[in-house]
Amino acid sequence: MRETRPAGGEGMGKVVGRFAPTPSGRMHLGNLFSCLLAWLSARAQGGRIILRMEDLDTQRTSRAYGEQIMRDLELLGLDWDEGPYWQSERGEYYQERLKELQSLGVVYKCFCSRAELHGAANPANAPHVADGDYIYSGKCRGLDEARIAELERRRSPALRLAVYGMESFTDRHYGYMEQDLPRECGDFILRRSDGVFAYQLAVAADDGAMGVTEVVRGRDLLSSTPRQLQLYRLWGIDPPEFAHIPLLLASDGRRLSKRDGDVSLDALGERFSPEEITGRLACLAGQLDRPEPVRAGELVKGFSWEKVPKEDILLPEGFLG
Ligand code: GLU
Repeated sequence: MRETRPAGGEGMGKVVGRFAPTPSGRMHLGNLFSCLLAWLSARAQGGRIILRMEDLDTQRTSRAYGEQIMRDLELLGLDWDEGPYWQSERGEYYQERLKELQSLGVVYKCFCSRAELHGAANPANAPHVADGDYIYSGKCRGLDEARIAELERRRSPALRLAVYGMESFTDRHYGYMEQDLPRECGDFILRRSDGVFAYQLAVAADDGAMGVTEVVRGRDLLSSTPRQLQLYRLWGIDPPEFAHIPLLLASDGRRLSKRDGDVSLDALGERFSPEEITGRLACLAGQLDRPEPVRAGELVKGFSWEKVPKEDILLPEGFLG
C-alpha cells in the first residue's frame, strides 16, 4: 500500500497554484499564457499563488531575468501571495530529498558519457523521452562496487532513479494518461554529473514542499508528469492535480521560443498596453470572444476550463498587430 501524507504549506484544503518560470530570458507569449491560466484557475477557486524561479541552471539563468519576470507579471496584474523562491538557493533541500530516495535503494550512479547516451542504441522516435531525446538503457544499473570505484576515479557520475511500473493520472484538461516508465521513459537523472539537480527532482520536491495543489503548465511537460508522480509516490507525498494546456505556436507552426524576439514582452510592450496583451491571450484561451483590452482580474469570475482549447494554438497571422 502506498503511504501518503499531505503536502506541507499553509492553506490546507485550499487551492494553491504556482508560477514556475525559468528566468533564462524575457518572457514570451507562451510563458505568459501559462501564467495567466495558472493564475485564473487558482483565483477562480479562491486559491493562492506561489512564485518560484526555476534557476537551477545558473549558466543559463539570471537574477536580472527573474526580476524582469516579476515586473512583467505585475504589469499584467498577475499577482502572487508567496515567493519568489529561487531554486538555486534550495540545493540543501533537494539533497535531503535525494537522500530519502537513496535510502530506498532506488538511486544509482551513471557514468555514461553524452556520446554514449545519444548513441545509435537508443530508439529514435520514442513517444516519451526521459532526458531530452533518448530512453536510457539502464547500462549502469547493475555496476558492482569495484567497477563503480574504478570509474569514479575518472569521472563524476550522474545519479539516476531506477524506475518501476506504471504511473497514471487524470489530467484536468487532457483526461486519463498512463505511462509504463521502464519501457517508455527509462531511468532518469536526478542529479547531473556536475552536481546540478535535475528539473524532475527539484520541481516535484518543491511542489510537494510548497503545498502546491494545482500545476498548470504547457502540454510539452505532459510526458514529464509520470516521472514526477513516481517521485511523489516514493516520497509518500500526495501529488498535486495537473492541468496541462495547449502550446502557442508561431504562425509557421514553430514552438515559440525566448529567442523569437517578436513574441517577447520586450517587443509586445512597445506596441500594446498590458490590457491589450491580456485581452489577446484571454481570447486565445477561449475566455473572450474578441481580443478586447481587459485586466486579468476581470476574467476571474467567468473563467472556465471548458473553454480552453485542447489543440495547440497557431498564432493568427497579424495577431500581434
Ligand atoms: N520552469 C518550467 C518552464 O519555464 C516550467 C516547469 C513546470 O511548470 O513544471 O518551462
